[in-house]
Amino acid sequence: MKKSKKIYLDYASATPLEKSVFSVMSKALRGEFANPSAIHDLGVHCKNMIEVYRKTIAQVLNAHSDEIVFTSGATESNNLAINGIVKKYAEDFFRSSGKVTRPLKNLPHIVTTNIEHASVLEVCKYLEKNKLAEVAYVPVEENGIVDPKNIKKALRPETILVSVMYANNEIGTIQPIREIAKEIRHYNKLHNTKILFHIDATQAINYLDINVEKLGIDMMSFNAGKIYGPKGIGILYIKRKTPISKIIFGGDQERGLRAGTENLASIAGFAEALKITEKIKEKEVKRLKKLQDYFIREIISKTDNIFRSSGEVSQTIKNSQFCEIIINGDRENRLPNNINVTIPKIPSDLLVIELSARGIMVSAKSACKSGEEGESYVIRAIKPEANQETGSIRFSLGRMTKKEDIDFTLKSLKEILTKLKKWYT
Ligand code: PMP
Repeated sequence: MKKSKKIYLDYASATPLEKSVFSVMSKALRGEFANPSAIHDLGVHCKNMIEVYRKTIAQVLNAHSDEIVFTSGATESNNLAINGIVKKYAEDFFRSSGKVTRPLKNLPHIVTTNIEHASVLEVCKYLEKNKLAEVAYVPVEENGIVDPKNIKKALRPETILVSVMYANNEIGTIQPIREIAKEIRHYNKLHNTKILFHIDATQAINYLDINVEKLGIDMMSFNAGKIYGPKGIGILYIKRKTPISKIIFGGDQERGLRAGTENLASIAGFAEALKITEKIKEKEVKRLKKLQDYFIREIISKTDNIFRSSGEVSQTIKNSQFCEIIINGDRENRLPNNINVTIPKIPSDLLVIELSARGIMVSAKSACKSGEEGESYVIRAIKPEANQETGSIRFSLGRMTKKEDIDFTLKSLKEILTKLKKWYT
């Protein structure tokens, strides 16, 4: 019952390169290899090419070219956004007060949520632990979405930064970015503060509006590896006049904000990937939405022998014979390519391995945290009652996903669950 073809349903982890991205990159790798800081002809040409790509990217975001900083990926972009703002605050504080003693009298305050990516949460934990900042982790609601009112409540006069992800990498829920931006603007006006708003748009970039002006944000991180571009290249959009310090020291590339020789071929690939993503976005959202609806409908009906379903699709699906399937995250406000389900009692890693043995690639939780024991912290945040035994799996669809792939996946899942039922219930 094995299928030789691989069915890849892990697009939230990584995407394959688009053909045209590959050709743009290979051309750049061969022809534009000189150091863009060199003053000879080829160096100047490389520098100019970077500026061409930067402009292309800035235009897609409705930003200025000088607001785009290239990094090694979304992890670095998130680190630069958070650490860079806190560092600048401390530098300005020590410079103006002449004080050299720690801790700062009024520690800067950061507001974030409890389901951010590790590249945000770990920076926040580090800053907290070392008394460099205080952090409020605003909990999301049961549907995986944060209430802007709760962000507002967490703001204080010492708050310097709010960092909220645009869409979650595990459960695909979309955060109300414009509403949060509005609350921050309102607070700033009322209290004469200058709280900045950073968003991690890594998962959102494929499907949502990324017009920075309309979103009302100050900083935005994302990478190329999630949009069918190369891995190891990211961007931090930084609105003009944002007070930020560098966190990497060396040369003065990227207007002094990010030292290191520019990764020209990847930058070229990034620009091409982003152009394609924007071009096909609307159509792809519609196509995937249909597949997502189909997946959710079918996961109930196709597993009917095992799962007796009742109630709404978006709610817990009870099954008297076996267990229950829970669709995690808000049914409407979620990325069109994400289906995250909990099948209590069945270890999720086992499901991932069983599916993989049948040629189907999915994830149990964020790849960055897949080595950690136990339930994903995102699932725990929306389901505090979850325990170590409770697993969840993420199916993330993409450009190559077809209806047949979903049919085969659900058929395989049914077989696997029927087999595992004997041992786990
Ligand atoms: N933020 C989110 C939401 C992500 O999904 C990821 C990648 N899994 C990252 C940040 C980190 O991206 P990178 O691997 O480019 O550092």
